[in-house]
Amino acid sequence: MKKRCIYCHKVIEDNLETCPYCQKKIDFNNLSEQETHELHQYCHNQITKGGDYIDNGLTFTVIGAILAVIGAVLLYVSNRYNNYGKRIWIFTSVEFIVGVVLLSITFGCLVYGGFRIVSGLLKKSQYKKIIEQTAFKK
Ligand SMILES: [Zn+2]
Repeated sequence: MKKRCIYCHKVIEDNLETCPYCQKKIDFNNLSEQETHELHQYCHNQITKGGDYIDNGLTFTVIGAILAVIGAVLLYVSNRYNNYGKRIWIFTSVEFIVGVVLLSITFGCLVYGGFRIVSGLLKKSQYKKIIEQTAFKK
């Protein structure tokens, strides 16, 4: 079985006592009180980091949503009646071009924001689990 080191995130064998890359103890079965304390401190830091990722992701999502509204309005405005009374897209209008640019940025914001939120949630749950697993072993 292989897993990822919780410190350096490199893929390692499951049965090792220390990580061959960062030399940290990764077998949590026989931790001293001090080691458990340090492990939990590390996990709490990572959980805080995960929370920051989520906040960051939410900020990007909100910015993306605002840009989406502005972009959609601009696109709507660029859809005008021509001389023959038909509604057409004016591809060369400033509104259309800016609208498309804003919607592209929206797309980037939402993808990036979503990715940040998911990775933040995963980080939080992963390190919470480690704390729970090591909490009652004395
Ligand atoms: Zn490591």
